[in-house]
Amino acid sequence: MAKLTVNDLDVAQKRVFVRVDYNVPMEERDGKMLINDSTRIKETLPTLRLLISKGAKIILAAHLGRPKGKREPSMSLRPVAELLSQMLSLPLAFVDDCIGEKVAQAVATLKPGGLLLLENVRYYDEEEANDPAFAAKLAANADAYVNDAFGAAHRAHASTEGVARVVAARGGKCAAGLLMERELKYLGNELENPASPFVVILGGAKVSDKINVIDRLLEKADTILIGGAMAYTFKLALGQKVGKSLCEPDKKEVALAALAKAKTKSIQFLLPTDNIVATGVATGKLNKKGKPIMEFQNPRTESGQDIPDNEEGFDIGPETAKRYADILRQAKTIMWNGPMGMFEDKRFAAGTLTVAHAVADATAKNGAKSIIGGGDSVKALNQSGLGDQVTFMSTGGGASLEFLEGKVLPGVAALSEK
Ligand code: AMP
Repeated sequence: MAKLTVNDLDVAQKRVFVRVDYNVPMEERDGKMLINDSTRIKETLPTLRLLISKGAKIILAAHLGRPKGKREPSMSLRPVAELLSQMLSLPLAFVDDCIGEKVAQAVATLKPGGLLLLENVRYYDEEEANDPAFAAKLAANADAYVNDAFGAAHRAHASTEGVARVVAARGGKCAAGLLMERELKYLGNELENPASPFVVILGGAKVSDKINVIDRLLEKADTILIGGAMAYTFKLALGQKVGKSLCEPDKKEVALAALAKAKTKSIQFLLPTDNIVATGVATGKLNKKGKPIMEFQNPRTESGQDIPDNEEGFDIGPETAKRYADILRQAKTIMWNGPMGMFEDKRFAAGTLTVAHAVADATAKNGAKSIIGGGDSVKALNQSGLGDQVTFMSTGGGASLEFLEGKVLPGVAALSEK
């Protein structure tokens, strides 16, 4: 059933508790925390502008980092308040707490169209524990609830789930924000009945992270293209050599089951036929986690199926990239999650870039709907300047994967039905 959205709400003069995803990357410079990327803040502006135009009194709540129940100053949302105020060209109040008397007082002074940002909800352990008493305290000043934090909707926390339950129990409305609505539309409805050919392209590190997504998309897709390190688990399962490539030998059975399902359903399921390989050499240094730092030398194209014993695969090869790109250019629906290789290193980025261009081409020239399932594929598209040339890029990482798996997200389930 469809969920209520912020468009459906009549919130003039009402106090609306809005859960947003302001978990932005920050770094410390000269003793000050600076925001490195404001995309997540920008994404919430349409919902905020709509609520302002409706005359709501807006109470914004979010988490930042993992302070584990402590008041960790480097994880304060105060810098976000400053930036958000600039972006909206409006004054915005900030309270250094998310519950209690100070919050009640600040809410009482809010005018219609006014905004207040609360301090990091994860300064309290009760947030992640979804503690009912804490949820009731958060909800104390709310007549209605809006969730625009898709990236946090897979967690049943007090601000993503508990508050909605309290507001709903009092007869208040709980609605999806405009960003949340778009996420549900593209990752949900649009993939329910995709126009054919529906090409799914999956990459990234691990089969185990994405096997449930593969399994679900095997119900809908015409073609599945596999890249990234996850391809090596499939290759290993098929008896091919993968050298020292990152792979999961204990997931061979899972990979074989997916291949068998694809065959039964006559779905084209393609693996790389050539690879960019390199030789790992230990530098003798350790990283922050105490693991040896490797250097990858002599990158080259291995045109055979097998990867020699002393080498490691880091990207799909040019022949595979071209074959995948040709298939993508014919597609009418594309779902892409995960890079084709270790794209953070320029030497291993060509496969991901070729795919990104093909996805953009299919969208512009073939009228394809292209949906990018969050995480590193979004980063890769933005890096290549193609971010605005696809139909939709999800803001969720874990949340998009869980939604694509067909799981019910607690933050979505708690919203009112239309
Ligand atoms: P994921 O979060 O599962 O989408 O994985 C993304 C990460 O996988 C990126 O950081 C990539 O660098 C990494 N990755 C992709 N392909 C490879 C590969 N062949 N070898 C090592 N890492 C890879």
